Amino acid sequence: MKRRFPIFFLFLLCFLGLSLILRDSSPPPLAALTPLGEAPQWQKLNVYQNTLTQEEFVSLLEKVYTQEKSYQKYIKIFSDHAIIHTDSFDMQKTFRLNFAKENQQKGGSSKNSSAYWRAKPIKNASAQFPLQGLRIAIDPGHIGGDYAKVEERWFQINKTPPIKEGELTLTVSKILAEKLRAQGAEVFLVRSEHQPVTSMQPKALRDVAKKWYADRGMQDITETYRDTTDPSRGRSLKWRQEVLTYRNQEIRDRAKLINEKIMPDITLCVHFDAEYWGDPQNPLLSNKNYTHVIINGSYMPEELHYNDVRFEMLQKLLSQTHPIEKKLGHTVARFLAKSTQLPAADYYLAGHQAKAMSKDSYVWARNLLANRLYQNPVIFLEAYVMNNPEVIARIHEGDYKGNKKVYGKIRKSIFREYADGVVEGLLRYYK
Ligand SMILES: [Zn+2]
Repeated sequence: MKRRFPIFFLFLLCFLGLSLILRDSSPPPLAALTPLGEAPQWQKLNVYQNTLTQEEFVSLLEKVYTQEKSYQKYIKIFSDHAIIHTDSFDMQKTFRLNFAKENQQKGGSSKNSSAYWRAKPIKNASAQFPLQGLRIAIDPGHIGGDYAKVEERWFQINKTPPIKEGELTLTVSKILAEKLRAQGAEVFLVRSEHQPVTSMQPKALRDVAKKWYADRGMQDITETYRDTTDPSRGRSLKWRQEVLTYRNQEIRDRAKLINEKIMPDITLCVHFDAEYWGDPQNPLLSNKNYTHVIINGSYMPEELHYNDVRFEMLQKLLSQTHPIEKKLGHTVARFLAKSTQLPAADYYLAGHQAKAMSKDSYVWARNLLANRLYQNPVIFLEAYVMNNPEVIARIHEGDYKGNKKVYGKIRKSIFREYADGVVEGLLRYYK
C-alpha cells in the first residue's frame, strides 16, 4: 500500500497542522507538551473503564490511530488492562485502563454514554425534514480577510482578486448551513465572518514565541518583519506570535466552543485543497484537481511522545467516534466526488504518512489539531485544488444560482457544487 503513494510529490497545503505547518509549529522532542498544549487530566479517561475489549482497543490503535507498533513505547497491553505512560519524562507515572470482558455486557461497538454527541440523533424525521434532530457544527477552515497572509492561505495572480481559502470555506459553509437547515438539521457555524474566534492577542504569546525559538536553539531572533515576503520573518517574534495565535490558539478556542457550547452530533470542517504554489504574489499553477475526506488517526511515532497528544488520541479512540467518522466520511466523500466530478487525492506527504481508510482513496486518516481536539465525530472535507486554473476561474466567477458557462462548461457555482455534494452525502448516511 505504502508504495502506491510516492508516485508524485505533493505538498497539500490545506491541513491545519501538517507538512509545512507541522514542521513550522511542532516542537522538537524535548518538551512534554506541544506549544499551547494543556497538561492532560488522565482521570478523565476513567469514564471509559471497561468499555472496550482488549481486541477492540488494540485493533483501533493499530489499524487507525498509530503507525506500525509505535504505541508500544507508551502503552503496554495486558490481557485485561493497558498501562499507559502519562509522562514521557517519568516512565514511573502511569494510568491503568481496564478492558471490558469479551462476553460482558458493555459499550463495545456503541459509543460511551458520557459523550455529548449522539450516534443516532435523528428524531421525528419526515420526508420533508429527513435530518430533524441532527445537531451539526460547521467549521469554515481558516479565517480569511486580514489574516489570510499570516495563515499562508492567500495568493494573487497579477491584478486579479486574491484567493483566500478562509473566505472560500465561509462561502461554502453558509450555503451548506442553509441547505442543511432546510432538511431539518440544527446547524451552528463556528465562525460567520472573516474574524478569529480566539480573543487572544499575538503579543500575549510573546514568552511562548521566545521559548519556541529557544527550544530549537535558534538565535538572532528579530523583533518584527517587514511583510510576508520578508525572508527573515521566520526568525521574528512577531511572526511566531501570529502563527501561534491564528493557527494554534484559534483551533484550541474553536474546540472549546464546539465541545462546551455547541456540543454537536457531528462536525464538518470545510476546506479547499491546494498544491504547492511557492511565491504567493506569483503562484505556481497546477493542472491537478481532486477531493478527499480526512478523519482522525495515523499519529506519527514522534507525536506520541507529547503527553497532551497521547492523551487526546486516547480520548478520541475511547470515545468511539471512529466508526461514525469512517462511514460518514466515506458516504460524504462518495457524493462529494459525484457532485464535483473530482478524482481521489492519492498523496504522500514529506515524512508524514496518512493512512488510507477506504480502498478508493477518498478517505484518509491524519492527526490534525482540529480533528484531535473536537470531541465528536469530525470529518474534514477537502475539495478542489485552489491553484488550478479552472478552479481559479470558477472562484473568480463567485457564487450564483442556477447554471452558467464558466471556463467553457455550463455548471453550478463551485460553492454550490461543493455544498450539494455534502448535503447528498449526509442525507444518504442518515437515511
Ligand atoms: Zn484548509
